[in-house]
Amino acid sequence: MPSSSRHTSHVPAGLMWFRRDLRAYDNAALYHALKSCRQVHCVFVFDRAILDSLPRLDRRVEFIRESLVTLDAELRAVAGDAKAGLIVRHAVAADEVPQLAQALGVQEVFANHDDEPDALVRDAKVRGALADKGIGFQTYKDHVIFERSEVLTQMGKPYGVFTPYKNAWLQKVNDFYLRSYPVGKYVKALAPRPKAYQVPVPTLAELGFEPTNLSSLHVPTGSPGGLALFEDFFDRMDRYDETRNFPAVKGPSYLGVHLRFGTVSIRQLASTGYQRMLAGSKGAEVWLSELIWRDFYHQILHHHPRVVNASFKPEYDAIKWEHNKHAKDLFAAWCEGRTGYPLVDAAMAQINQTGYMHNRLRMVVASFLVKDLGIDWRWGERYFAQHLNDFDLAANNGGWQWASSSGCDAQPYFRIFNPISQSEKFDPEGKFIRRYVPALAKLSTAAIHAPWLAKPMELQAAGFQLGKDYPAPIVDHAEARALTLQRYAVVKKEK
Ligand code: FAD
Repeated sequence: MPSSSRHTSHVPAGLMWFRRDLRAYDNAALYHALKSCRQVHCVFVFDRAILDSLPRLDRRVEFIRESLVTLDAELRAVAGDAKAGLIVRHAVAADEVPQLAQALGVQEVFANHDDEPDALVRDAKVRGALADKGIGFQTYKDHVIFERSEVLTQMGKPYGVFTPYKNAWLQKVNDFYLRSYPVGKYVKALAPRPKAYQVPVPTLAELGFEPTNLSSLHVPTGSPGGLALFEDFFDRMDRYDETRNFPAVKGPSYLGVHLRFGTVSIRQLASTGYQRMLAGSKGAEVWLSELIWRDFYHQILHHHPRVVNASFKPEYDAIKWEHNKHAKDLFAAWCEGRTGYPLVDAAMAQINQTGYMHNRLRMVVASFLVKDLGIDWRWGERYFAQHLNDFDLAANNGGWQWASSSGCDAQPYFRIFNPISQSEKFDPEGKFIRRYVPALAKLSTAAIHAPWLAKPMELQAAGFQLGKDYPAPIVDHAEARALTLQRYAVVKKEK
């Protein structure tokens, strides 16, 4: 249902504003726009309010740009009209969308919900500016299966613990929520672009950005890219429960960036996972659970927007983090993968080189930053926000608050990952470490998880010098653990 109840059938002209939904199929707002308007224009705005503060090398900008080229072609193809397609602007979206809507003479603008706090402020501004011009703004759920207050406890309160949320989610889900929007039925409403807007998607250089290594990483873009990854994952889904924790194994779907930018449909993924789960697949059940975590964190952000800056559990804000010069040096070592803990450093190399990090490793490095280095989880959260291709405020904040124990349903503060045993358990042969930290590649499997504990003779035989080829550990885990327990003592005792 639209957020605004205004009746929209037989609207002469509408504008579909794409944001985190860069696909022409199974798209809620696009479907409603096409169904209710005789002519629909489509726009994407490279929002200067976001882009101007980014470094000039950003894989996300390139991913979006490439995906828009595809979306533009898809819109023209489905419309069967070479003059149709995507209008692409590079401007402040809050100003540009109302201006464009007026210039195109539309009566309604359509978009899918974006519930991040800054986006809500932007959308409120757009709604007001459109209303001043007598233009409506219709918005829809598209990004998640259940949003906002759709899944509540019997007392009508939002859930703060995952398992009961998941049970309620599974209880509520049915074909109605998983069904795709048949956009194809109404594509004849796609309008030709006025001549002034029949220009190609701007190049990265025109946007003021430099090319990244996205294409050499073979990250597939656009909805064909999302679909190809999903097809590739389909055969692995049944084994997801067994493979998902091992970063050297091709276990997960790698669909995070596509979910973030909507180049896949969450309904398509969740309904496939759901059907396979019902057919008895354990792997599909666990994977669907991860998609439910995604919904869970979205509703947490919606109900508790203060988590953007503060701990979900307020008592955790009493913790005193390290922030002196030494802490800043330790933080730099963490960012650059120089901690001396091989699995942590390999993980940081992965995010720095590719913009992706395996989920197990996100937990390991987050725990290491907070509980081995004593650094505020917000520093790590910010670093991930800058570097992850699939950065999503709700999931990232949820993940960091989970690791720092300050979040809803987080791990208890006294559970502190041991970076060596995590390495032995989840990268037992050191394959992942060897791939991302070539300096360690020659070490034996016994030595690779903690080279400083290996016999000097063994290191020598491998032609390896600790402190020269690879750093000695920047902290002692046992000492750090004891310090962390003291640091967290300000928090009331947990059961
Ligand atoms: P798969 O294992 O194939 O999972 C499928 C999808 O489910 C993911 O793409 C994602 O959309 C969703 N998902 C999986 N796990 C989670 C989870 N724990 N919470 C919420 N959604 C989940 N995920 C993000 O999408 N963006 C982030 O910015 C992000 N930051 C994180 C930070 C930390 C500290 C931690 C511990 C986790 C974070 N995650 C984040 C969750 C998870 O690590 C990634 O979603 C996952 O690694 C992406 O890889 P994939 O697409 O191959 O996932």
